[in-house]
Amino acid sequence: MGYLLKNEIDACVADSKIVIGEKALIAKNTIAPNTIIFMFQAAATDVRTRTSIQVSESKHVEPGDFGAFANHSCSPNTQIVAHYNADTNIAEIVMISITEISVGDEITFDYATTETTVTTNLLRKPCLCGSPNCRKFITGFQELSHTEQMSLIAKEITAEYLHI
Ligand SMILES: [Zn+2]
Repeated sequence: MGYLLKNEIDACVADSKIVIGEKALIAKNTIAPNTIIFMFQAAATDVRTRTSIQVSESKHVEPGDFGAFANHSCSPNTQIVAHYNADTNIAEIVMISITEISVGDEITFDYATTETTVTTNLLRKPCLCGSPNCRKFITGFQELSHTEQMSLIAKEITAEYLHI
């Protein structure tokens, strides 16, 4: 339980460039695509928080003192792959890079690819990711337009429980 792998060679917790005054996961090296940033295993809960990651239709995991700092981007450079075992209530989360990440870049994932919705203190806060395709607000999958949902599904980085 806890971190099965924490890639502290390539990533660290440092000041966010997206959300000034907050911490983020930052690349310490150039990170190739398909590099594991962390693997985390824990008991799932029914509670969504500002830092939890959804792992099934109704279960969530707190991703520890490293993964909790992964901020949202509408053009993410990683994706979350989660496996939830309903028999044991244990979830395993893997964060893996999907693009090359440059030194100093913030390591992000798209919250709408894992979360049905987000906590009220995040929901519809302006998104500051700055990407050309920024959706302007932080939301979960259910708050996206149908077009945005279809676009995310087409990228094949969206959790299956959101769209089956
Ligand atoms: Zn954005």
